[in-house]
Amino acid sequence: MKLVVSKDILKVNDKIAEIIGEKLENRGVMAVNILGSPGCGKTALIEALVKNAGDRFKFAVIEGDLATSRDAERIEKLNVPAVQINTGGGCHLDANMVLTALDDLDLDYVDVLLIENVGNLVCPAAFKLGERKRFAALSVPEGDDKVAKYPTMFQSVDAVVVNKIDLMAYLDFDIRRVENDLSKLAPGLKPLLVSAKTGEGIVEFSGLIEKAWNEFQKAQR
Ligand code: MG
Ligand code: ZN
Repeated sequence: MKLVVSKDILKVNDKIAEIIGEKLENRGVMAVNILGSPGCGKTALIEALVKNAGDRFKFAVIEGDLATSRDAERIEKLNVPAVQINTGGGCHLDANMVLTALDDLDLDYVDVLLIENVGNLVCPAAFKLGERKRFAALSVPEGDDKVAKYPTMFQSVDAVVVNKIDLMAYLDFDIRRVENDLSKLAPGLKPLLVSAKTGEGIVEFSGLIEKAWNEFQKAQR
């Protein structure tokens, strides 16, 4: 099978993403697109973030998965509004899906909209969703070679979070390889080490959101 993402599809997507970006900006909502492979802990990171910073920001979450509403259910347990998008086989979220999902959120009660993309290190990078920031999550069990193997993804993001560092002692994962690959492919990006499970680094992870929020507030004035 040949898979072609045509330039036209991306052009249309970019236009819709622009509309989303403007809509969110007008409502004072900052969107963050969260990318990473299946199982790297994107939902767990969102849960940890909400628990840590839920008193400072009104969060809402859009969850992208091929099937099930499991992730949105996890988020709703934290009393955070969540909308599940099922792509029905699609391997990334596109702007049109996000625009439709926005209808199910009351943006007056949202500061930070977290968009958890479909687990995939490839094409989500090409599809803008109207986000203000893009974070990539990478986890220790995936191996330390992912930045070098999936450069497009890591070059498209504003921050890289390495999750599951509690497993570092059991696996051959050399963080210096990640740092080194990032320094070559995406100069200025330094991985933030976290464990959604133990809570290590979650304060710093919240700090990334806070910094982005402050910039967003300044840009709005
Ligand atoms: Mg998930
Ligand atoms: Zn895709």
